[in-house]
Amino acid sequence: MPRLLCITAHPDDEAGAFGGALLRYAERGVETHVICLTEGTAATHRGGASSNQELAALRRDEFATSCNLLKVTQGTVLDYPDGGLDRQDFPTAVAELTRRVRELRPEVIITMGPEGAITAHPDHSMVSIFATMAFHWAGRSNRFVDQLKNGLIPHQTQKLYYGTALFTMPDRPPVSLPPTSATLELSQRELETKIAAFKCHTSQAPLFPFFEETVRKRGRLEVFHLAATVTPQKMETETDLFAGIAE
Ligand SMILES: [Zn+2]
Repeated sequence: MPRLLCITAHPDDEAGAFGGALLRYAERGVETHVICLTEGTAATHRGGASSNQELAALRRDEFATSCNLLKVTQGTVLDYPDGGLDRQDFPTAVAELTRRVRELRPEVIITMGPEGAITAHPDHSMVSIFATMAFHWAGRSNRFVDQLKNGLIPHQTQKLYYGTALFTMPDRPPVSLPPTSATLELSQRELETKIAAFKCHTSQAPLFPFFEETVRKRGRLEVFHLAATVTPQKMETETDLFAGIAE
């Protein structure tokens, strides 16, 4: 069974940024995994939670419900500080993701771009940097050697994609997006499921109208940038993130 690993910063990124891809590949028989680095406790919208602890529990539940709707095989929320990924210890964060890549052994990893996606969120930038280095270093026997003592072996993931967009948002800081190289055209059902998954994050309800309007207007295409591949090649336009993947 092929495996897809999606690495995100906040609960709701899996639906908002990657919902179409996660659903599509799950329904194609791909084992899908989401690793979300934070519990999203820096959110402005708190869904009635009276403490960070309460909000974390709420958002973990919402994430699980969203993953369920997107047919994600396994969704994991870690507890890095929301809004603080740029101040985390680099080797610690990369080592943790490298270990998970070596354990899960995906063929394809999807994450955000180092620009921070259309919202320009610094956490999105940092998840991109951490995930990118985990992609590259998981396959090398001279990186995080201590992980390789108990049977864990290096794993070279075949492709790395950044989620990207074909538009920017004028009310956000400027972003320079990675060019689109892969396009998934969502069916109506996939689009509706993506929106429904985003709406599982009920603590973030004030964001729903803007998200839904944007996705209905511009989100029929979920677009990606092929950032790295094990096969040296010229950039080609793709419509399948698993194109050319060797079993
Ligand atoms: Zn986010």
